[in-house]
Order: sequence, then C-alpha cells, then structure tokens
Amino acid sequence: MSDIINRGRRDFLAFGALAAVAWRQAASATGAAAAAQPAPLSELAYGQVQFGAGPLERQARENHRLVLSLDEDALLRPFRVRAGQRAPGQELGGWYDTYAFAPGATFGQWMSALSRYYAITGDAATHAKVQRLVRAYAATVDARGSFYRHNRFPAYTYDKLVGGLLDAEKLGLDDTARATLARTTRAALPYLPPRAMPRNEHAQPGEDFSQHAWDESYTLPENQFQAWGITGERIHLQLGRRFLYDEFFTALARGDNALPGKHAYSHVNALSSAAQAYLSLGNPMYLAAAQQGFAMINAQSFATGGWGPDEHFVIPGSGALGASLEGQNKSFETPCGAYAHFKLTRYLLRITRDSRYGDSMERVLYNTVLGAIPIQPDGHAFYYSDYTGQARKAFHPDRWPCCSGTLPMVAADYAISTCFTDAQGIYVNLYAPAQINWTQNNVHCGLSIETDYPYASGVSMTLRLPSPQLFTLNLRIPNWARDASLLINGKPEPTPQSGQFAPLRREWHSADRVELQLPDARSLESVDAAHPDTVALLAGPLVLMRIVEADAQVLPIRRDDLLRAQRDRNGGHEWQVTTGDGVVKLKPFLDIDAEHYSAYQMVLPS
Ligand SMILES: [Zn+2]
Repeated sequence: MSDIINRGRRDFLAFGALAAVAWRQAASATGAAAAAQPAPLSELAYGQVQFGAGPLERQARENHRLVLSLDEDALLRPFRVRAGQRAPGQELGGWYDTYAFAPGATFGQWMSALSRYYAITGDAATHAKVQRLVRAYAATVDARGSFYRHNRFPAYTYDKLVGGLLDAEKLGLDDTARATLARTTRAALPYLPPRAMPRNEHAQPGEDFSQHAWDESYTLPENQFQAWGITGERIHLQLGRRFLYDEFFTALARGDNALPGKHAYSHVNALSSAAQAYLSLGNPMYLAAAQQGFAMINAQSFATGGWGPDEHFVIPGSGALGASLEGQNKSFETPCGAYAHFKLTRYLLRITRDSRYGDSMERVLYNTVLGAIPIQPDGHAFYYSDYTGQARKAFHPDRWPCCSGTLPMVAADYAISTCFTDAQGIYVNLYAPAQINWTQNNVHCGLSIETDYPYASGVSMTLRLPSPQLFTLNLRIPNWARDASLLINGKPEPTPQSGQFAPLRREWHSADRVELQLPDARSLESVDAAHPDTVALLAGPLVLMRIVEADAQVLPIRRDDLLRAQRDRNGGHEWQVTTGDGVVKLKPFLDIDAEHYSAYQMVLPS
C-alpha cells in the first residue's frame, strides 16, 4: 500500500527533474531562455478577499487583534537604546529584547502584518499604528548604523525591516516609509556580510560570533528584488544579486539534494529568494532550484505537509523522518515553516500554474498552522507541532519567539493565497467561505464561495457580474480527488481531472452557480519507506490524528479498520473506528485542544 500512498511525492520529484532538464536545455540554447513560460498568475490585493466565518477568518482576526495591541514603546526600545536615545517603557520580554540575542528582530514582521491587516480591513487604528511605528523607528536610524554594531543578526534583522517598510509603502500606509527604507539600507550596509553565508559563519571583523551568530543572509534577495521593483533603487538590485545563495541553488537545480543537515525554515525561505530571482532576473536556473528544492522537501515531508524535524532536513531514504517520531518533540517549526511554505508554493503555483502546489499549501494550512494555539498577550506562542506518539500542543517556553513574528503574517496571507488571476480568468485555489472581488475584462466581478470544506465535501460558488462576461473559472481539483463532480446551474459537467485546475470557460452571467463535489477520499500514508507500518490517516486534505490517553499503551490498529473511520453523525469534527479493542477517536489537528494525540500510528497488516 505504501507504494500507492507515496506516489504523489514521487510525482513531484519527477516534476522537479523535468524542470531541471528544461533549465539545462534552456541554458544550452542561446538567448530566449525563459520565453516558453507564460506570465505568472497575478495575486489579488489583500482587500479583494473577505473571508466569511471559519478557521481562516478566525486566525486572521485573532492575529490582527494581537499585533494591534502590541506596546509601541516596548517594540521601539531595542532601536532607541542601541541609538543611545531615551527609551521609555518596558522591554517586551523574550527573544528579541534589547539585550537578548537578536534585538528587535520581529519589529519589521509586525509592521508587515499590521500593514497587511490594514489592507484587508481598512481599519483606521491599524493605519495610525503603522504610521506611528514607521516614524518612531525612523527617528532611531542614525548614519553610523548604531543599531547594527555588535549585532549578531544584522542581515536577519535588516531583512525584516525591509519587508515591513516595503509593506507600509506598497500598501499605501505611510509616505515616509520609502525614505526610511533608504536610510535603513545605508545604516545596515557596512555591517552586512560580503555574500550569502551559511549559518554560523558570519562575524564582523573583530567580533567572534562563531558560536552563536546564526545570521541568515541567504534569505535576503526576495525582499531586495521586491524593493528594487517598487523603488527602482539599484542598491536593492545589487544587494539582491550579492546575497543569492548560488552554491545552494545551483546544486538543487542540478538535482543534487543539498538539503540534509541544513536549517529547515530558513532554507525553505531562501527558495522564495530563488523564485523571486527568477521573476526579477529571468534566469531559469533559479526557477529550477526552487522547483527541485520544493520537490526534495516534499519527498521528506510528514503527511501533514510539515517538514524538518528538530528544524533540520534529513538524509532522504535514511529512515530518519520516521525515527524522528521518537525521542524529540520538535517535529515541525509550524508558524515560520508554514509562512515560508505558503510563500514558496504561492510563487510556484503562480509561475507554473500547477495546482499541486495548492494541494501542498492546503495540507500545511489544515494540518499545521490553523491548529496553532493563539499567541497570548504575554508573548507565549505556539512553535513546534509534535508528531510523537503521545503529543500535546504546547507553547514555546520563551516569550515572543520567531514564530510570534511569522504567525500574524501567514494568517494575513491567507487572503492572497485564495485566488489568482490572469487575462483569461480567475483561479480558485483555497476553498474557504469568502467574497472575492476582482477585475476581469475591465469590469468589477464578484465570486462568493460557500462551503464547510474540508469538513464537508461540497463547495458552492456564485458569480456576481454587472453584465455577461467571457472568462475562465479555474477550479483546483486536488490530486486525491479522483471522482470529483461539477454542476453548473444544476447541470452536470464532465468529471474534472484530478491534480489540475479544471478550466470552465464560457460566457458567465450574474447569479451563475457552480457546485463542486469532492469525494470523501481516504488513504494511509507511511512516514517513510523505512517505516511502512507507521502511517497517518488522511480524509481528503485532513490528517486525522488519533486521540490517546496519557501514558496508556496505544495498540496498533488494522489498516482497513483505520480506513473505515466514520465522521461523528452530529456533525462534530471527530471520527471514530470501532475495533476489537474498543473505540478509537480521531480528530484533525485544528480541532485538537488539550488532548494527547498521535499524528501517526502503527498498523497491522490487513
Ligand atoms: Zn519560528
């Protein structure tokens, strides 16, 4: 059975290999290297997607409220103190305090998150907070670059500031953001390393950070290329090129698996720099690196879509992924990992139009990040998903860790991950209750999505159009949805192909209604080939995790019993299997609260 189960993962490897062949062919041809690719799909603006009630809307709302409540003096304190200025108020506490190991590192991320929530909601208090933060931060930037002196993370922190200021500029919140970005770059320049350097290597002359400098200069190009696109300032193009991690990217593009032993989140994040480098520079090697890298990550992912046990990639085929289910609880660095995964799959989906990147995004959405416990007002935050046998959800012991910077950003990004457009039509990627507004054929169009997916298998979509319009409504048919069905205004359409976008092209009229029915597909997925009897149960995109008693022995279960799990008849988010040993309860990760759970379980042969 594991043969069938792992096919999807191998498909991606084959697909990545094709990308590498295409790159080598393009590289050996002269000139027109990237000519064959159509233009990437466009993202919608943040405000063009409004979610209805459901887990995506809830998590975005919670995180908006959190970043809006952050104490501004506490956020600014590391910048003020390091500039030798008066710094009223208290420290925020945790990882990024003035005298902690990476001062101010989440400030830029929260500026990004606030800007994105303003773009979604138009909330005046959010707008005002971004303006105050940009201006108060600007007042701490001095020409000497005091902030970056004796700073172990100059590149890491500068990159996040660039992202925050770009979002404030791009989303129209503050007209001083662009000038502040220019001053920030001048201040940081003398302290940035000469090139993309592996973790642990970077230290300024005269400063020995060899034991504890984990600067991540290889993640910089993405924001630098975007800054170049927005401001036209050549310094950003130069910095983008300077920090491209070519030794990593060329290895991946060649098909060499350069992942094992590398820090997981930051190297997945670096692949977004490769994708943005492809978009900005047109060099297909960078696209091949991003696609191959993604395929290699996918081949060593958990069934949840998460990856990188103990924050590192393992040796493929070594059985290390399965072995990681015992002995350590750090299975997937969830908010940071999900943030990087969403960005990378969004790039690759837009560039290749391959719907399977959306399938992968959806697995990470429902099985990891949506199940994160909300960040507490005191900074306690969810960090690792735990896939060991008797796991429980928990906060990181430290306050305001890295994952408190990324969770508010990824929850805002659900809006721009839902639909994409091109000149011919719209692509629906995530099936969540939402109102979508977009422009097609130069007219304002609306699409409302009603669904309880993935708990229910039906998705209803209704168009609102000022006049009849010819365009293509492309619906993602997940790779596992072998027998999906489609109705347009009640009339059956041919069975759509799974693993693709179903292109519905016609003259659409207002109130036209499309109903997609996805099958209740069940499968078992082994953690890796070395552990064929350690499996996760999937119902569509959902991993159903076994609820277990603390410290009780968890008995193996028969494969076919597990596959027969029945959803609670009253509509609860719980599944059950009756076995000879009693009743086994299963829940999706986002519905697990304080219970002990097991993401994987031992199965007996059928
Ligand atoms: Zn993190």
